[in-house]
Amino acid sequence: MSSPTVRITHCQDFAAAHRLHAPQLSSAENLALYGPCNNLHGHNYRFEVTVEGPVDPVTGMVMNLNDLAEIMRTEIWQQVDHKNLCEDVPFLQGVVTTAENLAIAFWQQLAAKQDCLAGSRLVRVRVVESPDNFVDYFGESV
Ligand SMILES: [Zn+2]
Repeated sequence: MSSPTVRITHCQDFAAAHRLHAPQLSSAENLALYGPCNNLHGHNYRFEVTVEGPVDPVTGMVMNLNDLAEIMRTEIWQQVDHKNLCEDVPFLQGVVTTAENLAIAFWQQLAAKQDCLAGSRLVRVRVVESPDNFVDYFGESV
């Protein structure tokens, strides 16, 4: 009998500054598109990472959530907390730092550490930018 598959999620908070500015657009176009978000400003972000896998019949766990937390802390949190996302984060260079692009970039950071996920599979990265707005990225289906 195979073990039931369960999804587990860990969340972390960080504070960061950014501005939305697409280099392909003019200053006037950026201002019209992004409004006040074209100016440097900050958010108290939250990001959530969900992995999926079989529940180990001995440990009762998909993977140790402390291990997932540590991967998120080293691969993402330490690089973005109290930073300017547009200037200070190597893995965001050249990226318009919308929540969508943050979710994709965070996914890529974690996918590079897939071997550390104890056999479970990355299934969702959620970036919460404000109480009203969040985005989900589920990776590319192949
Ligand atoms: Zn913003």
